[in-house]
Amino acid sequence: MSAVLPLRHNWTLAEVNALFALPFNDLVFQAQTVHRQFFKPNEVQISTLLSIKTGACAEDCKYCPQSGHYNTGLERERLLEVEKVLTQAKAAKDKGASRFCMGAAWSNPKQRDMPFLMEMVKGVKAMGLETCMTLGKLDAGQAQELKQAGLDYYNHNLDTSPEFYGEIITTRTYQDRLDTLQHVRDAGMKVCCGGIVGMGESANDRSALLMQLANLPEHPQSVPINMLVKVQGTPMENVEDLDGFEFIRTIAVARIMMPQSHVRLSAGRSRMNEQMQALCFMAGANSIFYGDKLLTTENPEADADMLLFAKLGIVPEQRHDVSDEAHEAALADAIKEQNTPSLFHSAV
Ligand code: SF4
Repeated sequence: MSAVLPLRHNWTLAEVNALFALPFNDLVFQAQTVHRQFFKPNEVQISTLLSIKTGACAEDCKYCPQSGHYNTGLERERLLEVEKVLTQAKAAKDKGASRFCMGAAWSNPKQRDMPFLMEMVKGVKAMGLETCMTLGKLDAGQAQELKQAGLDYYNHNLDTSPEFYGEIITTRTYQDRLDTLQHVRDAGMKVCCGGIVGMGESANDRSALLMQLANLPEHPQSVPINMLVKVQGTPMENVEDLDGFEFIRTIAVARIMMPQSHVRLSAGRSRMNEQMQALCFMAGANSIFYGDKLLTTENPEADADMLLFAKLGIVPEQRHDVSDEAHEAALADAIKEQNTPSLFHSAV
């Protein structure tokens, strides 16, 4: 095996563009080679996502059905009660998730919400699940409070390049996002941060997004790469589709630039066929959302994921603490059960 290269935080745009320009097979081979230096090649980490507060967000992100600026017919919901969240977390754990992500459509959490959010984190953590939240902008004090409650990860995406950002969001700045990420790191939480492609950005913008992510003071521990889900009623409903190979290249380049991060195949997966998802895994994606819903957009049915895993010989990433062994084993059993000829046929 070739020597493990040190993590880099000084990528130039020319270098990133050069990776994108590699012949497809060379790029995917390089990404898979890097991937095998840091991860078990046939393991994929599984997260489940619950929307704990839906819609009516004050921000104007042009891709988002939850923005209050657009009429997408989305039913608005207030912050869920703590007990309901814990019931969902238990169900996710029983289905095999190792991380439970809670998302709220807010510009930022209000102080009055903090005690409820902290109760949710404590309760989910007590089940032996890793905890993740996405709540919008955080100040330094809120980041500390969430960390003390036991929050492992905070998700806050950069979305796109600094240059294209103004075309997508006008109600908060790129610097606001970088500041929140700094507060999260300072509090000692892990960062989940990625972006969205297929929003009409240029190839340079995709490179610049990955350059921003890799050149952060630490690589985000999780890097979700989303393919735009075009939702009717949002300004992006008619944006031209991004070529699937360009998406796979984005995954591969992210893997090469951030070799120790989990690269997550995220929103947009429901529109990808099995072969495309398999190529994304080959290019270094090693995390997915599992379940019926990915916030408010559809996600492939959980059973379809089990079938795909079985076909590809992929197993859920094992966590090392004893408390999770039982539900990881349960998931492995579920995959074995699904791995039957009749189910394979019905999935064609
Ligand atoms: S901040 Fe989040 S929930 Fe609000 S509009 Fe933007 S992406 Fe949607």
